[in-house]
Parts: sequence; C-alpha cells; structure tokens
Amino acid sequence: MTEGLLLKNGWVIDPETEKTTKKDVLIIDGKFIQLESDKTSTVMELDVTGCYVAPGFIDMHVHVFETETTLGINPDLVGINQGVTTIVDAGSSGVNDFPTFKTKIIDQNQTEVLAFLNISRNGLCSGLSELANMKDLMTGDELQELLKTQTDIVGLKARMSNSVVKDNGVKPLEYARTLADLSQLPIMVHIGNAPPELIEILPLLQKEDIVTHAFHGKKGGILSNEGKLIDAAHDAIKRGVLFDVGHGTSSFSFQTMKTYKKNYPYPFTTSTDIYLGNYDKPVGSLMTTMSKLLALGYSLEELVASVTARPKKALRLSEQGCFTPGTRADVTIFKLIDKREILIDSQGEGMEVSKMLVPHITIRQGRVVYKAK
Ligand SMILES: [Zn+2]
Repeated sequence: MTEGLLLKNGWVIDPETEKTTKKDVLIIDGKFIQLESDKTSTVMELDVTGCYVAPGFIDMHVHVFETETTLGINPDLVGINQGVTTIVDAGSSGVNDFPTFKTKIIDQNQTEVLAFLNISRNGLCSGLSELANMKDLMTGDELQELLKTQTDIVGLKARMSNSVVKDNGVKPLEYARTLADLSQLPIMVHIGNAPPELIEILPLLQKEDIVTHAFHGKKGGILSNEGKLIDAAHDAIKRGVLFDVGHGTSSFSFQTMKTYKKNYPYPFTTSTDIYLGNYDKPVGSLMTTMSKLLALGYSLEELVASVTARPKKALRLSEQGCFTPGTRADVTIFKLIDKREILIDSQGEGMEVSKMLVPHITIRQGRVVYKAK
C-alpha cells in the first residue's frame, strides 16, 4: 500500500517563480505528486491554514562535525528542528577525517548533511589555521580517490583570511583552483580579514564558485567607501560567481547588506555559518537570518528562493529545493508571526524587526520529522 500526505490550505511558495498561491500539496511515498494524479492511495490530511509551505530549506554553510571539532553543533538542532532539511558543512572535514564525518555525522541524523571538503587534509580538526602550511593541502590524487566512494561532497572549501593562511597569501586558493578544475567541483571561498585582498582572491573564482561572508562589515569588503561594488566583485558577479551571506559570529553587517540592496539587484544565497559559539547570538537560526533580511526589505519569496532554488542550482542538486513532481518531498512549513524584537548583526548593531519566520512543521522524504509545540 502507498502512503500519502496531503498538505491542505497553506500558502505555497514556489521558489522558481517566486510566487505565493493558496493551494494543497500532495506527497505519495516520499515524493511530490501532481494533485489530480493519484486516486488510490490512503492519504493523511494535514491542515496548514495560515502557514507558508516551501520546499525544504537548504543552509549551505554550517559546522556540524560535533564529534571531532570543538565548534561543531548537532545537525538536527540546526537542521530539521529549525525547519532546515538540508545542511552543508562548510569545510569542517578534510580528506583525512571525511570518512569519520560520514559515519558519525551524515549517517546518524535525520537532517540531510552534505559537505564542502576543506582543501586542507585536516579540515578544522586540528585548529583554525588549516592553510598556514602548504604541505597540509590534499593532493589531486587524494581528492579523486575520496570522490570515488563519497557522494555527499558538493564542493571544496578554502578559507581565505589572514588568520587561516598566515604567510601564504593567495597561494592556497591558486592551488584550490587546480583541484576544482580537476574535480569539476565548485569552490566555496570564505572571505575575511586581509591579506589576501579581495582583488587577489576574486579573479581566481569562476562561474558557480561561491563567496561566503560576502556581506561582512570588515575593512576590504565587496563595497568601496562610497558604497559601490569594487570592480573585482562586480566582475565576479558578471562571471557567475555567487555571493552567499554566511552570517557567522563576525561576518554579516546590516550596513553592508542595506547598501548592497539599495544599489544592486543581484541574487544571493542566505546561509548561517552556524556553530556552537554563535547559535545563541548573533545567528540564532536560518529563519532568524531570513527575518533580518526581511526587515531590510527583501521579499519573503526572494528569501525562500535564496534558501531553496538558488542553493539547489549552486550545489547542482536534483532532488532538493523544488516542488517538481517525482522529486523527494522535503518540505518546510513555517509561520510569519507578528513580533517586535531587536535582532543583532555581527557588528553588534541592533535592528527592530516586526515579523519573524518561525518553523512549524518539517517534512523529510514525506514524513513529519519536526512539529512545533
Ligand atoms: Zn564557516
């Protein structure tokens, strides 16, 4: 017998069209099915009147290697419990520890966990200066060998700030470029305090590579003092490089985002860079991060696209981030509640918001895996 679930009366957000429609969503045997097409299954009905219904949210920058790194947080805590069905660990593991990451993390949680593999063999398992010694970088052979058996790796991670690379400047990224070309994987580059400078980093990135922490408030960011995109950033966007929020402890500024929004319409992705140290504040959750962006004037539909359709495309995912019939039914059902609250960015700046996204029900592969009390 088939097993079905009918989500009734919700406001359904289609991230492809960025349109919201009041309608039902049908799931049979863990997949989305066209409404009229199934007459035979036993279908359980779930009334979601007053809620928004979206494809499962994807947070493409988290740190969840809780068994081997000190910063790692529990995947389900920042995943399904917060309305996020797919999370991508951004470089906590390198080639040395990825098999452990697979057995201890990926295989043990209800949230789907994917990974950007750190170009350092040690990832973040032996401290946070993983690119200070060029000898620690994995070889092309090591990468190719790992990719033969591991299917959860969606890209490479290179953290390009001074505290990570020390005297190596942009060299680790030049090396990452050759690994990316070899494996055809995108690179997620973390930007922070120089050196290396953005004018050295950005020209090395190609179409489909990702810049996380793009909207930080530190010196030497994507905007000039006059609030214009620096040429290297503008050129990168034109080449198809994707900018990602990656909120984090010190990497998201309301001022930078506000200025960017005023002057530039380019699509970006929303992610948290959530880990143990920033889970409470300033990050909170992916929905809290989206609530901040909503208060800055982005539409709810655009923000849903920034955690579904856009990461889907960036990570070349086929099953996630859409309502396409036949694809895996991961669903995020959330409420937009009226609530006055002061939310802070990574600079410590407060902003009063009047609406908050809050998770209501999370569905993975057609099954309810989280329900708000
Ligand atoms: Zn990070």
